[in-house]
Amino acid sequence: MVFGGSQYRLLCPTCGLQTIDDGSVTRCSVEHRPSLLRTEYEERTFRIDRSTEGMLRYRDWLPIREPVETNVGTVILQSAALNAHLQTPNLRLAFNGFWPERGARLPSGTFKDIEAIAILGRFPRDGRTLVAASAGNTAVALASAASTYGVPTTIVVPESALARIAFARPLRENVRFIVVSGDAIYDDAITAARELGLRDGYVFEGGARNVARRDGIGTTMLAFMETVGALPEYFVQAVGSGSGAIAAHEAARRAIASGEFGSRYPHLVLVQNAPFAPIFHAWAARSHAVEAAHRPDSAHLAGAEISAAVLGSLAPPYEPDGGLLDALTESAGDVTAVENAAARAASTLFEELEGIDLEPAAAVALAGLIERIESGSIPRDASIALHITGAGRRRLEPARRITPKIAARIAADPTRR
Ligand SMILES: [Zn+2]
Repeated sequence: MVFGGSQYRLLCPTCGLQTIDDGSVTRCSVEHRPSLLRTEYEERTFRIDRSTEGMLRYRDWLPIREPVETNVGTVILQSAALNAHLQTPNLRLAFNGFWPERGARLPSGTFKDIEAIAILGRFPRDGRTLVAASAGNTAVALASAASTYGVPTTIVVPESALARIAFARPLRENVRFIVVSGDAIYDDAITAARELGLRDGYVFEGGARNVARRDGIGTTMLAFMETVGALPEYFVQAVGSGSGAIAAHEAARRAIASGEFGSRYPHLVLVQNAPFAPIFHAWAARSHAVEAAHRPDSAHLAGAEISAAVLGSLAPPYEPDGGLLDALTESAGDVTAVENAAARAASTLFEELEGIDLEPAAAVALAGLIERIESGSIPRDASIALHITGAGRRRLEPARRITPKIAARIAADPTRR
């Protein structure tokens, strides 16, 4: 197959249309029900570039079009203490965080650095400005990387997330912040970013629709495959926007299609934080879509203590073709929800065992895994990948003293929810 100057095309799972990417396409050009475009790479075998470290070892399965350099990536490791505690000899951590003693050196302490590199590596350098929404960690990772690479970038954040956004080094002028004020939540920032992205000279990053974001974080599965030589039987991770879970499944599809990794998808085990658990409720109801009944009401939201506030999207890509529902169905997966107390207990346990602090989302994932192990729905001897989406903030935080300059403040659209 000939790929027009690039080593991949975008495939629509609904109509089969293949599109040549310009680095900013997020939707199929044919009118039909919602779908998530995905990449089809010319290279069908799992190849590793051993001349580099980190995520770029898997560059043949990344939609990178512009020069980016990095040596960061996922570290696959086993915690002997956790495995002894849970009696799970084949549990491995797909670790995205800051833990230099174990080789993990993501500068933001979260998987968002990996996404950011992939997003910026795909984004065209044609003078347009990338617009992204963030509830905190993306802002830190994307702003830092965009500053490094000089890519014009505007990041929209809800006011409540500002307290989590600070930098160790000053940002260059090409990075701007817009704040959605008041009681705005992540979805308000997404709405505002999408609207700004419609203006001339701006491109909305796309969130879960951005193939670079998904294939970027899909390298977490590829790192597991490289280290272990096989796909895991279970892939456990917390979900908010859902892109990481879809990405893991897409990476597994690519592995299976290569003919070298068997024919069974890892069962996705996705974990949400009650009470903010729209994916859990939609899946539990066997619904084909996330509906109003699956979302917490606004009054509940305003006062709710969501220990993993970074997880929250009320409108995850659940029903589109190629989205979460398809990934869960194809992988014979499942969704669970854990209470704050369970997440806190998991966080404390991990810190006691390993001396490293988990991000709230990673604690939610660990709590979900523990619940599944204890209930017997995941066998203790299974090959399990637990995606630790962030850890080690405590050591990074003291160096982060520079708060972002705010270019503009806007009000959330009151009709939004
Ligand atoms: Zn289509």
